[in-house]
Amino acid sequence: MTQSFQKLRALTGMKDILPDTSWQWEQLEETVRQWLASYGYRNMRTPVLEHTQLFSRGIGEVTDIVEKEMYSFTDSLNGDLLTMRPEFTAGMVRASIEHNLLYDRPHRVYAMGPVFRHERPQRGRYRQFHQIDVEALGLPGPDVDAELIIMLNRLWKILGLKDIRLEINSLGQAEERAAHREALIRYLEEHKSILDEEAQRRMYSNPLRVLDTKNPAMQEMANNAPKLFDYLGEESLAHYQGVCKRLDDAGIAYTLNPRLVRGLDYYNLTVFEWITDRLGAQGTVCGGGRYDGLIPLLGGKPAPAVGFAIGMERLLDLCEQEANQTEQSECDVYMVHQGDDAQRQASLLAEQLRDVGLRVIVHAGSSGFKSQFKRADASGAYVAVILGENELTTRTASVKWLRLEEDEAQQQSVAFDQLATVLTTKV
Ligand code: ATP
Ligand code: MG
Repeated sequence: MTQSFQKLRALTGMKDILPDTSWQWEQLEETVRQWLASYGYRNMRTPVLEHTQLFSRGIGEVTDIVEKEMYSFTDSLNGDLLTMRPEFTAGMVRASIEHNLLYDRPHRVYAMGPVFRHERPQRGRYRQFHQIDVEALGLPGPDVDAELIIMLNRLWKILGLKDIRLEINSLGQAEERAAHREALIRYLEEHKSILDEEAQRRMYSNPLRVLDTKNPAMQEMANNAPKLFDYLGEESLAHYQGVCKRLDDAGIAYTLNPRLVRGLDYYNLTVFEWITDRLGAQGTVCGGGRYDGLIPLLGGKPAPAVGFAIGMERLLDLCEQEANQTEQSECDVYMVHQGDDAQRQASLLAEQLRDVGLRVIVHAGSSGFKSQFKRADASGAYVAVILGENELTTRTASVKWLRLEEDEAQQQSVAFDQLATVLTTKV
């Protein structure tokens, strides 16, 4: 007797990427790799699981991520406190310190893959999502800060994206933030009645983050709060202007958003976001900035660093809206056959076709010609190669072109040893 079990489902906010859309991911990943290589960035892969402490220290205790979004658990086998990475930077920096990458020369590195945050799922916001993470380690800027932004501008062009705008700000240095912080806390105390519960809790521990609020009732208060930008000293301003000059050189438009503070604690000087109105409420496609303080905070010899992360789901959503994409076929050639001998011959010929770079599916199982042709058509192949008894005797395949104009010859016979040549000339 067969027992029936209840169907299992994926976790809320965690999506399966099926074959009909995965080609878009692969195409994007390939484009991204080439784009990054053209600026000298090399791939780095760090574990998905890290010690929880890495993120609580590296991201900051009083942040959305660490306070309420991390997937953390105790490893029941040894009691270790572990967390699924909610972002890449902390792990990338940990690895760079651990393997002494930062001692010889600067490094331009990137990673791509899943990250995990326990958020309320909605369009553009998932619990497992994917980031392209790019870090320039060991370079003080402002040249490299600008280069990262110029680089991103190039990616949008490569992908054919429009309507994506750049906002930048400077968070200055620790002393400047301290002076601003005092003024800001005073201001928040004066407006305590307007602050929501979260803001009241954060106003002393992380007052800057209070300004990052999405609460509509607090917008006006946040808009009129003392601006960190007004507390910047000469050096920080020069750094900021150094970035702006280079963006002007490159013809890249930007707006200064003095309220842009970014979700993570470790940023200083340059911060930026690329935003679009085409994705509804979750319009930030990319966020980044300088984080000179993080490397010593994680136990490394002090070194400057700057980077950004792109949300891949949001980027793909935009690509789908704005660029022409042609769906990818399963294969170029579909091989149809009848009889055991024909199947074996088909699989030999298929290997030869793969040798010349064709993507080939050999029909599996035994079914009638008619249903095999249906499969061939559905696969998106541009040609079907047919092998039956006659074809085996004459060592000639029947070739049927599936995507030609009506008036072109749809069918021809091709000797086995000519097959690769004939098929490749028509791709
Ligand atoms: P938000 O303000 O939207 O929560 P964030 O500041 O938390 O963004 P970052 O930590 O800077 O986001 O992550 C970089 C990018 O990753 C974002 O700009 C966005 O494109 C993407 N991203 C962040 N959270 C999610 C999520 N839950 N689902 C999908 N993409 C996300
Ligand atoms: Mg967030």
